Amino acid sequence: MIVVMKTAATKNEIAAIMSRVEEAGCKVHPIHGEDRTVIGVIGDGTSIDRYQIGRMRGVETVVPISKPYKSASREFHPESTVIQVRGVQIGGPDLAIMAGPCSVEGRTHLIETAIACKEAGAQILRGGAFKPRTSPYSFQGLGEEGLRYLAEAREATGMPIITEVMEPGLVPLVAQYADILQIGTRNMQNYALLNAAGKSGMPVLLKRGMSATIEEWLLAAEYILSQHNNQVMLCERGIRTFSKETRNTFDINAIPVAKQLSHLPIIADPSHGTGKWEYVGPVAKAAIAAGADGVIVEVHPQPDQAWSDGRQSLKPEKFAELVQQMKVIAQVVDRNVPEQPEPSDMWQVVMGR
Ligand code: PEP
Ligand code: MN
Repeated sequence: MIVVMKTAATKNEIAAIMSRVEEAGCKVHPIHGEDRTVIGVIGDGTSIDRYQIGRMRGVETVVPISKPYKSASREFHPESTVIQVRGVQIGGPDLAIMAGPCSVEGRTHLIETAIACKEAGAQILRGGAFKPRTSPYSFQGLGEEGLRYLAEAREATGMPIITEVMEPGLVPLVAQYADILQIGTRNMQNYALLNAAGKSGMPVLLKRGMSATIEEWLLAAEYILSQHNNQVMLCERGIRTFSKETRNTFDINAIPVAKQLSHLPIIADPSHGTGKWEYVGPVAKAAIAAGADGVIVEVHPQPDQAWSDGRQSLKPEKFAELVQQMKVIAQVVDRNVPEQPEPSDMWQVVMGR
């Protein structure tokens, strides 16, 4: 950072700033101009509170040079992070395709949907067992029963599972079943939850808060990373704007911006980003073209009967078409959608139970 002193700053005021910076373990590089002095701070300034320095006597302004987040930034970690989840790579040359229902609604429903998603080309199964609903009267999720069905669907299809966790106290339970913990938009700044997810050592998908700046989002990721958990992926899921035609406004800019500022993989959620199934495909394709490392898409065999988010859910056949189209777009940006393995006999075994 650079501390710009007021023209009237006294020698003592300048000296006070320099000693405060040196006490924090940084070096100072003062430049005494004709009108004023500016002080360059050299070294790791993360322990210096720039707002506190800004309030000291004689200071005109403080100009930050480095980003306030460190572990999440590309500045400190130029190599892109690749996360491995049961053989699926997230952030590598292959795109990660995650799909499934908004909520887990029952055993057969989930396993059937999971098989349809896998046949269409998904590699990771999504499904909420603990649901963050705007109304307390709406379906809140099946809880641990839903987690058990997710584990069964993983067994049946071989797909790793991602599911949301909403409370720090539930992290150990959800981590027992899940392969990736999802932190939802409403909890992006739930710092106790971020710390607990960080401590679990599990891969975490961190959705952007619906009104969060990119800097706030990366600082939220920094909480998880600061617990020595480097398996964090970001997820753009749309932000609040004045536009009423869609549920949220998918911020396509966030993808190249986050890729430039951070080494963490970024996943696009065109389902919550638009709120209407007919816009999911176009926005998913745009996100791949913009450099996303994958997508997370809500799929339901009967969207009009879904217990949550039916309006934005794709039928499996529409999702299968979308995967084929994403394959074409992926080539243009030097990415690849991996081929699906042949269906295994195990599916019949599970379905026949
Ligand atoms: C979801 O994935 O179903 C969900 C609730 O997402 P978000 O946190 O983005 O609203
Ligand atoms: Mn949903």
